[in-house]
Amino acid sequence: MSAPSDTLHTELLRCPDCGGPLDINDEGIACTECAARFERTRSGLDLRPSHVQRRDVLITIGQRGADISDILVDQLPVGNGLDIGAEEIFDAGLFHGNRLSPALISHLAVPTGSTVLDLGCGARNVRSLLQPRGIDTVDVDAVGDVPYLVDAHSLPFRESAFDGIITLAVLEHVRSPHQFMAEAFRVLKPGARIVGTSAFLEVFHMDSHFHTTALGLTAALQDAGFEDLVIAPTPNWDIGAILVDMGYLPGSAGPHTRRFARG
Ligand SMILES: [Zn+2]
Repeated sequence: MSAPSDTLHTELLRCPDCGGPLDINDEGIACTECAARFERTRSGLDLRPSHVQRRDVLITIGQRGADISDILVDQLPVGNGLDIGAEEIFDAGLFHGNRLSPALISHLAVPTGSTVLDLGCGARNVRSLLQPRGIDTVDVDAVGDVPYLVDAHSLPFRESAFDGIITLAVLEHVRSPHQFMAEAFRVLKPGARIVGTSAFLEVFHMDSHFHTTALGLTAALQDAGFEDLVIAPTPNWDIGAILVDMGYLPGSAGPHTRRFARG
């Protein structure tokens, strides 16, 4: 795996509280508009909102039933973007669980020199796939040892900052899928794509909130402004595989069992 770069993408940043410019210096990080202050971490910056706040979320109403027959397909077609084989994806640790596939990554159409947001980067495995191809990633997560700690409902990045977004098995963990997608849309350049996976039949795990259906995903994406949607089931990720892979077989001591035993 490539060594992660610790270069800060200061030109892309903005205040997660008010959207204002950030002053980043040796003393710390402060918003020049609302005076909010943020901390450095061992690996980068903690740019989660500085205090509890409420946000309005935009949804569409008044539609008389949705037809997603053009959006939901049985099998994801191969796109015109990155060509990365299954073996390389497996070696990068990105096959198990979140099920990144060659077909999915092929829809990330970003040339060399692009900057991609890995929204919910975990162990930063996507970076190890993209960096050797001359594509920079900005790695963010809500927790962990990552360059940017963020709240996906209020990303600390300016409008049109990214050439693409990849988000693997993250959407089910946020409080509002609609606000998540609205923020993703805001930070993407016009016409750029978001690719990712989201839980559907998976059982409750790691504080997951919303396990989306195709209709739910479509609503969150369309209300955010995304067009040309394609949604497909993840191959070989059926309920049996889920129960085995996630340790939820009856009688097993998987996370689900522990969660309810604790309550
Ligand atoms: Zn501010």
